[in-house]
Amino acid sequence: FLPHLVASMEEVEQSYIMIKPDGVQRGLVGEIISRFERKGFNLTGLKLFQCPKELAQEHYKDLQSKPFFPKLIDYITSGPVVCMAWKGVGVVASARKLIGATNPLNAEPGTIRGDLAVQTGRNVVHGSDSPDNGKREIALWFKEGELCAWAAVQEPWLVE
Ligand code: GDP
Ligand code: MG
Repeated sequence: FLPHLVASMEEVEQSYIMIKPDGVQRGLVGEIISRFERKGFNLTGLKLFQCPKELAQEHYKDLQSKPFFPKLIDYITSGPVVCMAWKGVGVVASARKLIGATNPLNAEPGTIRGDLAVQTGRNVVHGSDSPDNGKREIALWFKEGELCAWAAVQEPWLVE
């Protein structure tokens, strides 16, 4: 990679972003991917995928005691999702801002959920909540050969 990027490499994180079945069904795939592309993040993994129940349960295992957990698993497995890995400086926190609050009612206009969703149970997109969870979730949803490391030509124009 380019030597002038070395200083910023520590800040480079990975986030697992997923367009949920409602986002796919509503034809929002292009719109949602565009928002991350235009922000300047680097797409390193992308696939359309029908999620098995066991994987949904593992992904959301921290929520398994919640009353809505069975509904959440039904929702996530109700149709194909778009699985994505995005890389970039501060991508985890930044993606959470682009996505907006969990409940679309509280999500600011301009965010994905603020602009495109109305209810928590149909909030169109997932984003990792920490860099460690970003790594964990990417490893959970992707096999190694499915990820691509590449340098975008625009990188020197995004990171000083
Ligand atoms: P997120 O990180 O903003 O996605 O929110 P959480 O990690 O707290 O919850 C994960 C997902 O579970 C949310 O995005 C919703 O799809 C779902 N969820 C959370 N809370 C509720 C709830 O009270 N009711 C329902 N139906 N789904 C919920
Ligand atoms: Mg979460």
